[in-house]
Amino acid sequence: MTDNIWCLKGQLPLERAQKLETLLETMGDERGEFPPTLSYFEQAPGQDWMVEIFFAEQPADTFVDEILKRATLEAWPHEFSRVENKDWVSESQKLLSPVEAGRFFVFGAHDADKARDGAINMQIDAGQAFGTGKHETTAACLEVLDRLAGEINPDTVLDLGTGSGVLALGAHKIWSEAKVVASDIDPIAVEVTDENIEINDGTARAIGDNKAGIATLAADGLDDPAFTYEKPFDLIIANILAGPLIDLSDDITAALANGGTLVLSGLLVSQKKEVLDAYQARGLVSLGRVEKGEWLALTMSKP
Ligand code: SAH
Repeated sequence: MTDNIWCLKGQLPLERAQKLETLLETMGDERGEFPPTLSYFEQAPGQDWMVEIFFAEQPADTFVDEILKRATLEAWPHEFSRVENKDWVSESQKLLSPVEAGRFFVFGAHDADKARDGAINMQIDAGQAFGTGKHETTAACLEVLDRLAGEINPDTVLDLGTGSGVLALGAHKIWSEAKVVASDIDPIAVEVTDENIEINDGTARAIGDNKAGIATLAADGLDDPAFTYEKPFDLIIANILAGPLIDLSDDITAALANGGTLVLSGLLVSQKKEVLDAYQARGLVSLGRVEKGEWLALTMSKP
């Protein structure tokens, strides 16, 4: 995303705004460049329209002068300034409402005052990592974790493809004594997860530390020596996508302890069979599933 956007702004009758738009396109063609984008909106019926021309970078004065001259707008009262660099991700986060899944209540910082008594509260802000609880697959996994709370008591947990860390944190909140690993191929996701552990008063630990808490790791799949200090896992949660889940089926099965539980998500209902087949072929047994819209979370166990 560029952070050097400039805007030329003023009011014009609609026909002049439309002519200006055509002129910008013509000038773009002449210069062999994408023209600056023009938007105009009606302020009140019968009044002039607010016109904004956005430049992707600071334009040369001569270019701006030429536009104004050719549009016969030399005397046009206008403003010309750099656009304040808004943090659009956090802007859009304001639109997100909290999510409920099982006992989990996931909200953004703007809703921090909404934390609920009796719920497992998690503050996860939309950032550069996936997983605010808003996506069906995340919500489905949280629901499964909540259901598993009464059934299993894992000592070791892996959240493979942790994104924002939401599922690792969920597991940590449920099984506070467990040693959790949160890994992602994307180092930014790992940073975001570290932040979210802190925001949510989670306990951070280092890989290989024999103590409860969450250790984060940037790694592609399970092919990293760090996993040897942590394997096998009593619970693995992997919310990735059907393709990688199938590709990783050997490694995931091998990393799962005997008697361990596997939660797979990121797959469409229509992809259930191929994913199940891959894991059943490796000896896992299906325990059930949660469907949310088109998406599915599967629970399996290793006998
Ligand atoms: N667990 C989170 C995020 C799911 S999005 C949630 O449930 O909301 C899937 C994540 O998997 C992304 O952050 C992506 O970077 C990660 N990912 C994709 N392929 C991976 C791989 N081969 N190894 C580890 N992580 C992977």
